[in-house]
Amino acid sequence: MLDLNHPLEYVKGIGPRRAELLFKAFHTKTIGELIQVYPIRYIDKTTITPIRNITINDEWVLIKATIIHIELVDGRKQRLVVKVSDQTGIMELVWFQGIRYIGQIIEKGKEFLFYGKINNFNGRLNIPHPEIEKPGINDTRDFLLPIYPNTEALNRSGLTMKFRRDLLFGWLNELSSYDFPEMIPNWLMKDLNLPSRFGSIKQMHFPQNQKSAEIAKRRLIFEEFFINQCSLIAQKIYRKNNIKGYNFSKIGPLFNEFYHHKLPFQLTEAQKRVIREIRNDMGSGFQLNRLLQGDVGSGKTIVALMSALIACDNGFQTCIMAPLEILAQQHYKNISKLIQGLNIKAALLTGTSKKKEREEILSGLQSNEIQILIGTHALIEPAVKFHQLGLVIIDEQHRFGVEQRAALWSKATPLPPHVIVMTATPIPRTLAMSVYGDLDVSIIDQLPPGRKPIKTLHFHELKRTEMEALMKHELDAGRQVFVVYPLIEESKDMDLENLQMGYDRIFRAFPPPKYQISVVHGKMNPKDKESEMNRFIQFQSNILVATTVIEVGVDIPNASVMIIESADRFGLSQLHQLRGRVGRGAEQSFCVLMTGYKLSQDARTRIKTMVETDNGFTIAEVDMQLRGPGSIEGVRQSGGPEFKLASISLHQDLFKLANESALKILTADPKLENPDNLGLKSYLSKYITKNKDMSKIG
Ligand code: ADP
Ligand code: MG
Repeated sequence: MLDLNHPLEYVKGIGPRRAELLFKAFHTKTIGELIQVYPIRYIDKTTITPIRNITINDEWVLIKATIIHIELVDGRKQRLVVKVSDQTGIMELVWFQGIRYIGQIIEKGKEFLFYGKINNFNGRLNIPHPEIEKPGINDTRDFLLPIYPNTEALNRSGLTMKFRRDLLFGWLNELSSYDFPEMIPNWLMKDLNLPSRFGSIKQMHFPQNQKSAEIAKRRLIFEEFFINQCSLIAQKIYRKNNIKGYNFSKIGPLFNEFYHHKLPFQLTEAQKRVIREIRNDMGSGFQLNRLLQGDVGSGKTIVALMSALIACDNGFQTCIMAPLEILAQQHYKNISKLIQGLNIKAALLTGTSKKKEREEILSGLQSNEIQILIGTHALIEPAVKFHQLGLVIIDEQHRFGVEQRAALWSKATPLPPHVIVMTATPIPRTLAMSVYGDLDVSIIDQLPPGRKPIKTLHFHELKRTEMEALMKHELDAGRQVFVVYPLIEESKDMDLENLQMGYDRIFRAFPPPKYQISVVHGKMNPKDKESEMNRFIQFQSNILVATTVIEVGVDIPNASVMIIESADRFGLSQLHQLRGRVGRGAEQSFCVLMTGYKLSQDARTRIKTMVETDNGFTIAEVDMQLRGPGSIEGVRQSGGPEFKLASISLHQDLFKLANESALKILTADPKLENPDNLGLKSYLSKYITKNKDMSKIG
């Protein structure tokens, strides 16, 4: 009996060395895992192309031809050149690698099938590294020949496509549906018209025709989404029913006093909704674990503060953690101002807090004199002990490892704290569901009223004077300007040079003493960076020339212009984040995207999207279409789901179906005790243990 867990290194014909190459290429260790590396396409073996008909426009071709000439050519690099003929013409095949191995297979006068990609070599067509197969052997099954993802190293090691195909064919013949038990409930398969699991796997590898390959693929994609959604939703239901949390059911004097007398503006409907969601969670007796998404400027801070006030009213402390000192300072400043006159105290603790101040804060925390602690990573240190910590708020997508999370949790006893993670990076809805489906997600999808939309302009290099005129106009009206340059590690010397040149140009156009310029870039030491940044925040300078270090949420309402140099070199989400730095005040704000004339298709789409919309979710959606889900900030860091065939951006309809089905099943039968769901239950229990995502906050 063939065992799916059988290690590949013990498979006859693979062995330890090739097994290692397979592992490197596909992360596969066992037979079962290799079976799940599916073909990327098929070639129709019934359509052999006569050599005479081949043109450079044929990408991949299959020819059936006899070897008429074999030659080893010495040059800068040795190559094997083979001429083959099929009556209609002659084609040249060439190998640069694995020559010895190929030499053993081919033989003058023999006929083979060759499959490969047509290449134009000095005006002559040839096929480099084609696949070779003896014709006739498996002709009955080989209508559609699966083509697998492959690597050069695998090819060189002699693990040919043909060999792999034969292995898979043999394995799949020996296996049965017993080895790939069904996990989709029967009624659902019928409802959605899905073929069986094992049948689909077989059809994926050796389909009867293109249509059956497509049907099989659809089923396997649905399966991946379905399992992803079932496992996340099951974990969420489990958490909601089992992990007890502090019950903050009281809405007390602090919250009411603030809400009725101190709130400096009317909350938006979205803010109200989110506060309600948080309030409900915190009063449920179970742990709150919520991702709070809101575009830059949507007003997350006030939501954080009001949640903290609920904690306070119930006798608990809150800590708010930001990734940068400067952000922590800003939160501290804003929150201190907002809570003036309330009987409550906030403190700021960072790596640079003075010793005496630090000691006062630490003792104030223990005695409960301080109810809200704001800070950076310094908050995690063991010395930081609370009287009674009940709520942890993490700003700007700050994800922690297991240990950090455990350290933070252990500061709250006996129950875990409620957790809110705030992020300004909008994640497309389906993607968020596939990554954070086990968390609750709140979205502030509305900006405070009265904001003028930022005017976004695209200027070519030749319009630089126009851009400078805009700058001058705004500067002379008493406002501040950001000028941002790209700086990436791979080209940092040139980038720094550009930054310097840009600075010189600005300096000449806007000379002191009338204009003051600050410079901040990633290569500066943190102290200088901080002081330059502060100069700008305190309006001692009018222009901030910077690299992308200012991306994170520093709030400077007086800044009304964001100039982005070489804008085509930034990703969409990044551009959107940068633009969000302006438009905080009541004045009209501008974002200017500077580029050269020549732009790639992608860059054109990015710039166009920026000019046309300021909706963060629309932008994230386009970004995902352009660069794939892995490009979305926060998804990469948290690992994200890894699908074999499915793609969140390509198969949204199937995802929606999978999500709805999973919800329906788990809502009706959360413990999966219904006989219909036993297959799903047993599959999930294995899947969840294997994929436990330890990076998640909750
Ligand atoms: P972010 O979501 O980017 O953290 P902030 O919380 O910093 O946004 O809010 C941005 C600005 O909008 C702040 O100056 C804040 O005082 C203001 N603000 C927040 N909510 C409202 C509202 N409902 N009405 C008017 N202004 C608001
Ligand atoms: Mg913020």
